[in-house]
Amino acid sequence: MKSPLSNHLNITPQHERALSHLGIKTVRDLLYHFPIRYKSFEDQKAIADLSEGEEATIQGRVISAKAEKTWKRKMNIARTVVSDGTASIRIVWFNQPYMANILSGGAMHTFSGKVQRDKKGLFMANPRFESKTPFTKEKEVIIEKGDQLVPFYPETKGISSRWIAFTLQKIFKAIEKNNIALVDPLPDDMRARYKLPDILQSLSAIHSPKKHTHIETARKRFAFEEIFFIQLLRQRERLERKSHPSFMLGSPEKTLPNFLSALPFSLTGAQTKAIDIIFKNLTDETPMARLLEGDVGSGKTVVAASAINAVLEEGLQAAFMAPTEVVARQHYQELQTLFKNKRIYIGLITSSECRKFPSKVSYEPDTHISKSQLLKWVASGEINILVGTHALIQKNVTFKNLALAVIDEQHRFGIRQRAMLVGRRKSAQQMLPHLLSMTATPIPRTLALTIYGDLDLTLLDEMPPGRKQIKTTIVEPDKRNDAYEFMRKEIQNGRQAFVVCPRIAEEARTDNPMFLDMKSVKAEYKKLSKDIFPELSIGMLHGQMNPKEKEKAMNAFRQGKTQVLVATSVIEVGVNVPNATIMMIEGAERFGLAQLHQLRGRVLRGTHQPYCFIFTDSASQKTQERLQALVNAKNGFELAEYDLQFRGAGELTGIKQWGISDVGMMALQNLKMVEAARTEARNLLTEDFELKKYPLLKEKADTLGDSHIHFE
Ligand code: ADP
Ligand code: MG
Repeated sequence: MKSPLSNHLNITPQHERALSHLGIKTVRDLLYHFPIRYKSFEDQKAIADLSEGEEATIQGRVISAKAEKTWKRKMNIARTVVSDGTASIRIVWFNQPYMANILSGGAMHTFSGKVQRDKKGLFMANPRFESKTPFTKEKEVIIEKGDQLVPFYPETKGISSRWIAFTLQKIFKAIEKNNIALVDPLPDDMRARYKLPDILQSLSAIHSPKKHTHIETARKRFAFEEIFFIQLLRQRERLERKSHPSFMLGSPEKTLPNFLSALPFSLTGAQTKAIDIIFKNLTDETPMARLLEGDVGSGKTVVAASAINAVLEEGLQAAFMAPTEVVARQHYQELQTLFKNKRIYIGLITSSECRKFPSKVSYEPDTHISKSQLLKWVASGEINILVGTHALIQKNVTFKNLALAVIDEQHRFGIRQRAMLVGRRKSAQQMLPHLLSMTATPIPRTLALTIYGDLDLTLLDEMPPGRKQIKTTIVEPDKRNDAYEFMRKEIQNGRQAFVVCPRIAEEARTDNPMFLDMKSVKAEYKKLSKDIFPELSIGMLHGQMNPKEKEKAMNAFRQGKTQVLVATSVIEVGVNVPNATIMMIEGAERFGLAQLHQLRGRVLRGTHQPYCFIFTDSASQKTQERLQALVNAKNGFELAEYDLQFRGAGELTGIKQWGISDVGMMALQNLKMVEAARTEARNLLTEDFELKKYPLLKEKADTLGDSHIHFE
């Protein structure tokens, strides 16, 4: 099963390349490449019955087909019209002009795709299609088998779903013919406890099902398997880390009153509780591994700073890693303020510069220094806190005695990057720093338990007092000007506003019609500064700008020199401008709920009433419902559960970054299953940490650990 596919099958180099794009190299990889959907021929719909937004399969005759170039975007497009006797529908093919030739001739075809609407009515764009008269041999295999359900696989260029199905049939035949026993990665007794079918049953049910119920049972098995393996890896990391010693602080709680007395506010109950439990961890002999989850604005930084303070009091060092330069710099400045009464040195390292606070030579509070100088001082222990981006985890960064590593927005880093910061272990006796990870990304509990299985979770579920509730409005297209006028008034009163667009520039992808009228930062910037707010000063921030330009744009906005900042979601994370009270989001259907929630959190920082205006070009009910949830939800975690329960795991934002497959995501709707997988993984490792009794588990866990699970 581990051997390359080409050892067993005749595979052309083209297919091999295409397969490797899908991450498929071995027989096992292919067996674990699951269909994304199944089609039975009853699923077919009459064209007259189609409605906007649905995924549908139709069968009909092509009644016209022509290729042309759109004048606006110089895009090649094939336009066809297909009729099935009940009605006709337009089917367009972007960037595939040759489809006009392939589809001419009046033959019957089936088309599967999403039904969309534009000014001229319903249409499908680049649907999957099949000819009724089979034109390849592979095709015949599937149809003639007489299965009720035809599997459809995720495709890539150069490899069709049909080819995959055909190849899998061959593999199953060979398994049967040669009586090959597949070894089940899940131990028998474990499967028995949860009544999960064995590996061969499950594989054949998922690839060539006779009934929908068989698919469900098989998917459940693979969902459990996947979550179990992730748990196994996380629990293993956890136990491994906990086997190292760490820095045992004496009595960190004694350092707190002094630190707090310098703050202009008192802590919330949730902050106090979080600090309590963190301090307990800091007195442990094993390294802390804690994740602090809290909505944007819940005050995570101060919690982290309290812990840093306790570490500094013992003459030890701390590191603070953030995902972007903008956020790193902001933390660098914040820490300067928080520790201004302490005689300590803070360093900043990013890929573009290094700085040190306080400066000894100039009148500026901090100064630019060379990287080699900074690293020398970090290694000698002279720098007490080092703040930075990914630059912080380069090999040449070494600390004298790093006792605490803080990671902000930890979901933006991979597990490996996290490990590089806290786990450069040379020997079992080596001291590892305590780890405090922080995130504002509201994710459902099941997902947190899974992907953060190696961390203890603490929730900051209380906002600092006096925060205004944000007023969120979905703005109807004809009310756009009212929103602009409202914004103008707020700005005249001294406030500032963000305008967020889903992309940077107009051009880019044209193969998807959804992108054609998506708002862009550059176009909105132009429109706002010329037509809407000619009297205001408008800035722009996006990922194509270099760090200097970004910093300049951010500073101008921070200092109130620009009143409106038009940006992509780069401002999503951590940018703190208390005077900004308006968040305007264009093309909101392009963002996930969690992301929208984070975006509006950007204007929750001040004492003035904040507003969020949401625009969408999509009239689909699904979008409206989702956005309504955003209007109603009390906090991000509530929103995340909503996303999971009502929209399904597959709808969770940024799903790919968690490294969990669609099938695995299914498990996340089932807290019992996730808890069972976690318990099983824990028990197994407690009993047999090396997995000596489970060589297959060990092998699979080792390979998974190497490749599959990486974030971003
Ligand atoms: P986040 O959790 O999003 O990182 P921050 O730590 O940046 O939030 O805190 C947001 C703002 O709230 C900061 O300006 C911070 O000084 C302030 N803040 C934090 N804790 C409190 C508190 N207990 N009372 C009042 N303001 C607070
Ligand atoms: Mg923060």
